[in-house]
Amino acid sequence: MRTIRTAAVIGSGVMGAGIAAHLANAGVRVRLLDRVPERLTAQEEAAGRSLEHPDVRNRLAADALARLSRTNPAPFYDERYASRIEPGNVEDEWERLAEADWIIEAITERLELKQALLARLEAVWTPGAVVSSNTSGISIEAMAQSVGEPMRRHFLGTHFFNPPRYMPLVELIPGAATEAGIVAEMKEWLEIRLGKGVVVAKDTPNFIANRIGTFGLLATLSLMAEKGYSVEEIDAVTGPALGRPKSATFRTLDLVGLDTFVHVADNVAGRAVDPEERRAFAVPAILTDLVSRGWLGEKSGQGYYKKV
Ligand code: NAD
Repeated sequence: MRTIRTAAVIGSGVMGAGIAAHLANAGVRVRLLDRVPERLTAQEEAAGRSLEHPDVRNRLAADALARLSRTNPAPFYDERYASRIEPGNVEDEWERLAEADWIIEAITERLELKQALLARLEAVWTPGAVVSSNTSGISIEAMAQSVGEPMRRHFLGTHFFNPPRYMPLVELIPGAATEAGIVAEMKEWLEIRLGKGVVVAKDTPNFIANRIGTFGLLATLSLMAEKGYSVEEIDAVTGPALGRPKSATFRTLDLVGLDTFVHVADNVAGRAVDPEERRAFAVPAILTDLVSRGWLGEKSGQGYYKKV
């Protein structure tokens, strides 16, 4: 089986932090990295910190870890395992990425950002290490085109579901140049070391599960607008009544992140050839309005529901 002792997760948002915790629990040392903040918080200013202070530079990943430990009590989040996660920022930790057996990209769902990161990674990547993207549905091949052949052979999609530690499914998406051996080794590793149910998917927009899931969520929103149902009514019938108390429509949107959901739906609409398909994946104005107000769901404290 492939040996993965050290991993680097780039992007410490909803998914990156959860994937890091999951790997740490399985015995892997993890560097959890995010951007360097561009502005100080009011608290940092009051404490006389500058943007150069390490606590500020590492703040995004460190805060993500603190949030995880608050929201995932033991035994799901075990402090003994958490010490295997080192939070930091990509700029200061850049050279150490060469030590990673597996680099997982979990940054914002935008092709140009992912391509720019991968192109930069190529200079530090140790040949042989696996590089993967947690994209919800952006073309793996379009990302692979931003790097040369050697890295492309070791690059694939490893799509975890939210929350990564509780959702057993991982979709593996090879690009055209991904070595078959890498796909087989990662499938084995994810099944045996993480206990996942792995499905190898084709590189189609949103792959398999999100293609269906996004369609269902958008169809629900459109029916709701047509019939005048409330958020509570929709969640009552799509959640508890179906025996899924935590995965009702709007609870799910808040958990996923409304901005991420808009990118994921746009990804299918933007690549659709059939006008009917483009219409089915069109995002309603209410969602884009909420995102422009900064109502992104649980991660911003306010989405369809307010976090108390
Ligand atoms: P998020 O918005 O919660 O977090 C993204 C993080 O990436 C942010 O903390 C941001 O600061 C950081 N970032 C952006 N550019 C960066 C860069 N160049 N270098 C380092 N860090 C950078 O997003 P998320 O929900 O965690 O999604 C991450 C990825 O996982 C996306 O591709 C998304 O489509 C996918 N995904 C999301 C879900 C979900 O339910 N949210 C589920 C499966 C897959």
